[in-house]
Amino acid sequence: MGSWDSYCAICGGPFNTLTVAQKPRSERFLRRHGLSQPQPSSSAQANHPTEDGNADTTAETGDDEAAGEAPIGTITQEDEREDGSYDRDVVTSTELAWVQDLHVLMTNENEDTGERVGCVSGVGEFYDNTQVSVDDGDDPNWDPTAEIVLYDGCFPFHWPCFEVLGTVLEGKTGIAGLNKLKLYNTMMRASGICCSRLDRLDYGDPGPYNEQWWEYQPGTEFLVVHPTISLEKTTALIRERWMKSTQVVNPSDRVRRVSADSFQKLPLELLLKTCSMLTPQSLHQLALASPTVDALLGDKPFWKQYLSVHMPWSYELLSIIDDESQTFQNADFKSLVRWVDQESTPRQWMRGPFMSIANRRRIWHVCEQLKPVYSGRAARFPPTEAEKRRMNLRRAQMGMPPPPPGGVFQMPAIGQ
Ligand SMILES: [Zn+2]
Repeated sequence: MGSWDSYCAICGGPFNTLTVAQKPRSERFLRRHGLSQPQPSSSAQANHPTEDGNADTTAETGDDEAAGEAPIGTITQEDEREDGSYDRDVVTSTELAWVQDLHVLMTNENEDTGERVGCVSGVGEFYDNTQVSVDDGDDPNWDPTAEIVLYDGCFPFHWPCFEVLGTVLEGKTGIAGLNKLKLYNTMMRASGICCSRLDRLDYGDPGPYNEQWWEYQPGTEFLVVHPTISLEKTTALIRERWMKSTQVVNPSDRVRRVSADSFQKLPLELLLKTCSMLTPQSLHQLALASPTVDALLGDKPFWKQYLSVHMPWSYELLSIIDDESQTFQNADFKSLVRWVDQESTPRQWMRGPFMSIANRRRIWHVCEQLKPVYSGRAARFPPTEAEKRRMNLRRAQMGMPPPPPGGVFQMPAIGQ
């Protein structure tokens, strides 16, 4: 069957050594991808180190290709090399090394009770196809003689992704509170036959392709950035932004705006409920239109509740709001929340320290899909788009109308 890559069950990312280009992106690369010039740093951009040991003082920029350059629609070998590597101005090999460390989740029999239990290996590395080698680690239920075949009774993952999963499934208790057997059974239900990641999960858009080998997609370095390593840096960055964002409202202007504010007639509970359902962007706009709403948004408990629902992946904002020494007086938290939401939205060509939050945010949404089955609220995962299409085709062949939007598909039960 040849060779293929297996991916992290949680983030869908690779375990391979990733290639970072030795040369800066060429003019031709920028033109081919519709970028007339290098992407400006995001407002959250911090100084980025250059690739360690890869300084190539003789690097060509591609400018000299102009004479006799291949047409843009033609992909040259150099184009393939550039597309098949990450931008050295965005990430370094050192920053990407974390993806090579994997662990696996599988089951074993408890020596004392004979019961089936879930267990996690120590750190290991990926070889090819379904092959890995792992250390025994410190899980007392781990079987050192276990035969490991990825996605055949055994699920590989990165530890940082596992930590995010632990927080999504068990809250503050995290991975210490995880029921590994339940998690194993949940992943079994989310996987298909001969898969290289959990087929029933949506890994995001943009997200990692599920190809035979890891696919480098230009401008998606954030997909392989460690989701929590730069917490201190990003928290400091956000805090600094907040400290600068005090809002000063002219008293006469406030009186004029309040007198014209129809929201002040609404009951407080209704206003709070409405605010709690809005996106950060809509909330910000509403507060600009209504001084009554703006005053409500100076309330710390509101934001604690709001962040836990809308942005639970933003560890930085949650830590800032938990800091009791922090005052809310005149500090424009609504603008800060909107800014973090925008900066951390997963998107192509993003760069800077917010890539870490963006990847965490993406992984968080993957983990949330596991929650209903893990917690027992659902018996199975919703059908994939391919399954829906097959089902519709079968119904059409049988002369049945397609199910209504949101209708329930009857899928065959998947074994434990
Ligand atoms: Zn992962």
